[in-house]
Amino acid sequence: MPLLRLLTVFLFLLTGFVASAQHNNPYYSRTDTKKLKLSDAEWKKVLDPNVYYIARQEGTERAFTGPYHDNHQAGTYYCKACGNLLFQSSTKFESGTGWPSFYQAAGSNSVKLTTDPDGYRTEVSCARCGAHLGHVFDDGPKPTGKRYCMNGTVLDFVAGK
Ligand SMILES: [Zn+2]
Repeated sequence: MPLLRLLTVFLFLLTGFVASAQHNNPYYSRTDTKKLKLSDAEWKKVLDPNVYYIARQEGTERAFTGPYHDNHQAGTYYCKACGNLLFQSSTKFESGTGWPSFYQAAGSNSVKLTTDPDGYRTEVSCARCGAHLGHVFDDGPKPTGKRYCMNGTVLDFVAGK
């Protein structure tokens, strides 16, 4: 059965190639702060489907199912779509909501706030690439009183400090 074995190896390699291609995002950079404007088709090509769904289609992960809601490590949170600096772990707090929550964005170029189409909630998006991240509410802890309720799926955590 050498032919079958060869075919199996070939399929295995092909699967690996396709899987790694999905993680190949040439726009991701933790140092480049230039604004990103890409077509929807381009985003679809470079983002993992679950990231694309939240970042570009304003989806929401189910509570307690995404990464980082229970992460207590010190470090920095970046935009999963573009690498923009978003939040520091020092401003993360236990909200009990099942979504990673922060009381403050990392810097003035981190996030953009807009009013949701529903007219009630304030949407939080990445200031560099426009990715939808979550919402901000006024029931957070001191010193800001804000609660940035984020989808962990669109965050990229780097431990450190
Ligand atoms: Zn971004």
